[in-house]
Amino acid sequence: MLRAGIVGLPNVGKSTLFNALVANAKAQAANFPFCTIDPNVGVVAVPDERLQALAQLSESADIVPARVEFVDIAGLVQGASQGEGLGNQFLANIREVDAVVHVVRCFESDGIVHVAGAVGPARDIEVINLELALSDLAQLERRIERVRKQAKADKQARGELELLEAKLLPVLNQGKPARLVDLNDDEEALIKPLGLLTRKPVIYAANVSEDDLASGNDWVEQVKQIAVAEGAQVVVVSAQVEAELIELPPEDRDDFLISLGVEEGGLMSLIRATYDLLGLRTYFTTGPKETRAWTITAGMLAPQAAGVIHSDFERGFIRAETIAYEDLVAVGSMTAAKDKGLVRSEGKEYVVQEGDVMLFRFNV
Ligand code: GDP
Repeated sequence: MLRAGIVGLPNVGKSTLFNALVANAKAQAANFPFCTIDPNVGVVAVPDERLQALAQLSESADIVPARVEFVDIAGLVQGASQGEGLGNQFLANIREVDAVVHVVRCFESDGIVHVAGAVGPARDIEVINLELALSDLAQLERRIERVRKQAKADKQARGELELLEAKLLPVLNQGKPARLVDLNDDEEALIKPLGLLTRKPVIYAANVSEDDLASGNDWVEQVKQIAVAEGAQVVVVSAQVEAELIELPPEDRDDFLISLGVEEGGLMSLIRATYDLLGLRTYFTTGPKETRAWTITAGMLAPQAAGVIHSDFERGFIRAETIAYEDLVAVGSMTAAKDKGLVRSEGKEYVVQEGDVMLFRFNV
């Protein structure tokens, strides 16, 4: 399962956002018993309107959405890479996630102290990114040391040394993220074991007050400029609004959102964006028992995709009855789709497409 780590300076709204994510997951469904693994980890459903449409069509008893795991990585402060606070421990936690959600404070509040004295997203982002880059730099230098010794006798090590010294080191030395370095697949595989923090895909979550949720503000613009330069995404969210929504009876939530001029508080967009960030794809299975979303990566073949459900499905794979979601919904039922010849029989070489609805035939 994809794991996303929530990072940011103290008092920017990380915990508020994390708690809203978990509370939402808990409120969602009884068939969702795994929402809290430990206090800092929450499993969250990926919102997808297609699930409801398919479930209606199949008269499914249950809906099982795709899931993303969020980890609240609190405690990142200036000096973390030097072991300040519990610095190194937090950095190690980030090393284990697939994607980073970087919460940036874009709200003013008299009551809530900002660690640096005043709101300033550009400075905040720089502080965090610098800590991550310094941690990567230390990691890289240790690796270079080791590879340099091997490089005397080993041609492959010489290649790696060149990559580390010529491509990655100059960027990290400038305090910039390793994400900015273009690498081919082989190079990517070589540096993967390093687990570089600044190579992980990032979404900036610009946390605004309720009054700015619809309009944005100058701080959000600052965040957007930085994100564009880094090739990162921005989602505008109000952790406060999300926290208040949970407290409201469901029938009052829409009115509250309408009064703010928005359709949602940003949480759903954030979950969706996090899921999309790693190029994940969804295919569906649907029947009277349940309609379910399954997560695969781009380019997966039908047997591998079947293996996501169960390894027996992959081993014994024969073929997959397949129809695109749009085609199925357009004709209204699986029977009608079969009559019209829209259900294809796909074999082992089929590359599963986003939104495919599949039924696997396999030997046990
Ligand atoms: P963390 O240290 O980053 O985890 O920050 P918290 O989630 O604990 O938030 C710090 C304080 O800011 C809390 O008192 C929150 O209620 C408050 N807060 C969080 N988001 C917002 C927001 O969007 N607007 C306002 N006004 N306060 C917020």
